Amino acid sequence: MSSFERSIDARLRSLEERWQDYQINGTFEQFVEFTLALNCVTEHLNRLKLPGLLRQCEGLEGAALALFGDGSSHPADAQSLAALDRQIRAIFSAIQMAQKSSAPMDRRDPGLHFNEEWTKLRSIWLVCEEGHQWYANLSQQLGFFGFRITRYDWNEVTPEDSSPMVIVFMPTSSDYGPEELQLIQQLRTKYVATQLFCLGVKKTLEAMVELGRAGADLLIQADQQTATVLGRVLELIQTQEQDAYRVLVVEDSATAVKMIQRSLSQHGIESTALSNPQHLLTTADQYRPDLVLMDMYMPHCTGVEAMRVLRQLPAYQSLPVVYLSSETDMGMWIEALRLGGDQFLSKPVNPVFLAAVVKSKIERHRDMLRASQHDSLTGLLNHSASKGHLNQLLAASQPGDQLCVAMMDIDHFKSVNDTYGHPVGDQVIRSLGWLLKGRLRSWDIIGRYGGEEFLVVLRNASLDDAYSVLDRIRADFASLPHEHGNGVMRATFSGGIASFPLYASGNELTEAADNALLEAKRRGRNRIERAGADLF
Ligand code: GH3
Ligand code: MG
Ligand code: MG
Ligand code: MG
Repeated sequence: MSSFERSIDARLRSLEERWQDYQINGTFEQFVEFTLALNCVTEHLNRLKLPGLLRQCEGLEGAALALFGDGSSHPADAQSLAALDRQIRAIFSAIQMAQKSSAPMDRRDPGLHFNEEWTKLRSIWLVCEEGHQWYANLSQQLGFFGFRITRYDWNEVTPEDSSPMVIVFMPTSSDYGPEELQLIQQLRTKYVATQLFCLGVKKTLEAMVELGRAGADLLIQADQQTATVLGRVLELIQTQEQDAYRVLVVEDSATAVKMIQRSLSQHGIESTALSNPQHLLTTADQYRPDLVLMDMYMPHCTGVEAMRVLRQLPAYQSLPVVYLSSETDMGMWIEALRLGGDQFLSKPVNPVFLAAVVKSKIERHRDMLRASQHDSLTGLLNHSASKGHLNQLLAASQPGDQLCVAMMDIDHFKSVNDTYGHPVGDQVIRSLGWLLKGRLRSWDIIGRYGGEEFLVVLRNASLDDAYSVLDRIRADFASLPHEHGNGVMRATFSGGIASFPLYASGNELTEAADNALLEAKRRGRNRIERAGADLF
């Protein structure tokens, strides 16, 4: 089962149950529960970046909110109920179709013989005439990055029972005509979970508005296609693997805790509760929350005092805090603000508002963390974050665990810059980053260690596993064409691998991998060497 299925299934089940409950008894409270469950599905689709499904779900939410009213407006009339029911069924079948397509591909495809565990095969359709000027280059590039490509003519019929991750459209002439717009609109309705990318879009408001209306998600101008398509496709894969939000609720009232945890879990937010602030430090260390919901008045100390202690520890200096308070004590509020309190909510808290506040604070905080840990050129972890992740992994390792650290460096990169210019050099660096992202598994660590140097940590991999995966990537990178002003060029990289537990600490691993990398350079480049392999 894919992470997509696991994460969405529970939410759909809850939506289905709430809707059934409401259809049977028709109380206002049940309608509120139903809209909460619906909002939870919508939020999740948003997080998964599935704009087609999201749009459909938002439409349903709008219809539900129009019926909201109060106690006297429920149960709603039969006609409205039937209309809502139809919309709900449509969403369920659209999600089912999306799930089918996110299942692993069958591998009868010619030309693809990657080990499944090491790849993230996804399906991309290109809609264009045979021999379209951009087709060959784009399908080759996407193929290199491990995507399964199928081409359809503009007038060809697409399959009913599976939907691709992305459909890329390339217009026949310099403009999208009425028939092309119509097809985009049809495919939008048919494949609601699919991202629709349009290439060769004219930079005029009219053309762009028309494509937007037809349901396109991304409009790409003629001068920036391959790199943009690749970048966006890889971004889509990345965002599908996000950890659940975790909230630590520090609150002495059992009733308040129950209310809060219920509305958080309805919105897919995990939480743990602490009634006694004396255990705050140990609980925070164990639970690693994304946000603290802090009661103002508790036994032993106030919420502000507890926060003052937590802020002393480096790990919690920027952790978002939302205070819960039933009083309007100005002095306390000001002190709380000074300590980086992000928001105050008065008890009893509106459950929808609580979840919305918590989510937006966590998202902003995660964006900030992401920006500080990632390199802007490639989107990979930066030097210190990749080292930090490696050390964390080693600290948590169990006896018998295997992992490998690899250092990679692009060959003769100075001459790439000198011959083709810095921007082409940047694109070569980006391509290697993308290739690693596209080919390695979501639980591997991939970092840009320096200018044209990369660090990779392969988990649960022996030295030989790691070698065969990276050597395959090496060979593919060497044949990857990079566009420059008047043609294409090719580049290579060398790599060194060291394995744990033969090398036991983060420093030993990176140093041994670095030495193996130097050996690969000495032995002629475009090759990968294993540290300590001669010991066996
Ligand atoms: P070798 O095969 O021995 O690795 O040769 P090399 O030319 O790649 O040597 P070296 O690793 O010392 O050169 C790295 C060059 O990469 C120097 C620097 O100008 C360039 N570089 C570093 N960061 C960037 C970057 O972000 N963009 C571009 N375009 N070039 C960069
Ligand atoms: Mg209290
Ligand atoms: Mg270097
Ligand atoms: Mg180099």
